[in-house]
Amino acid sequence: MILLRNAGPRSTTMILSVTSRLLGRGKSLLRDPFKRICIDMSSSAAPGKRLRVLVDMDGVLADFEGGFLKKYRSRYPHEPHISLEDRRGFWVSAQYGRLRSDLCDKAISIWESKGFFIDLEPLPGGVQAVKEMAQMDNTDVFICTSPIKHYQHCPYEKYAWVEKHLGCDFLEHVILTRDKTLISGDILIDDKPDIEGVEPNPAWEHVLFTACHNKHLSVHPPRRRLLSWSDDWRAILQSKRQ
Ligand SMILES: [Mg+2]
Repeated sequence: MILLRNAGPRSTTMILSVTSRLLGRGKSLLRDPFKRICIDMSSSAAPGKRLRVLVDMDGVLADFEGGFLKKYRSRYPHEPHISLEDRRGFWVSAQYGRLRSDLCDKAISIWESKGFFIDLEPLPGGVQAVKEMAQMDNTDVFICTSPIKHYQHCPYEKYAWVEKHLGCDFLEHVILTRDKTLISGDILIDDKPDIEGVEPNPAWEHVLFTACHNKHLSVHPPRRRLLSWSDDWRAILQSKRQ
């Protein structure tokens, strides 16, 4: 358990807490109110049916771009950086690589480091919105997020982030997948413009969450954007119930 060996006392407590729940040793899941909710497995959003909302994490709930820039500038203070205003394209490392080829690996080193994902700040209004969704009638909300392939820290810290900001009950509602097209749902709120995978016709409607890297892209109807968590996400959910 490399993570435990390297963790400080506070981190160790958090890690053990998460591990215990993930392994089902704690009894918290048995008391989890979500466990008592009957989840309709149908993804149809017809009246009377449950609405299933998938919410991405990085760039939607957690401030990946801001967290990256802060840690990159701290670790490489003498290297050039790209301001959030100048970010273009989903892949941070690709834009840094175009700036100078060796900066691609330096960028990657930031999010592969221990503590990157757990330290991300919540984006304004996201945590509150997801909590409100979870309380809505006939609504199931899941955090649907893709871990990086350098798996030593990321998957673990994503669970820890959810527990820290949304509470341990939400650990039941985390989906880690590299292919979101396989997941059924009515809506996927995600900042990645092109979400592709083995399923050519995903069940969900992709609502593009505006981020610094995608705000310049044109989105044509019927595609929709959610500009921020101050935008009318409730109306988007309601539109899928009709
Ligand atoms: Mg994202």
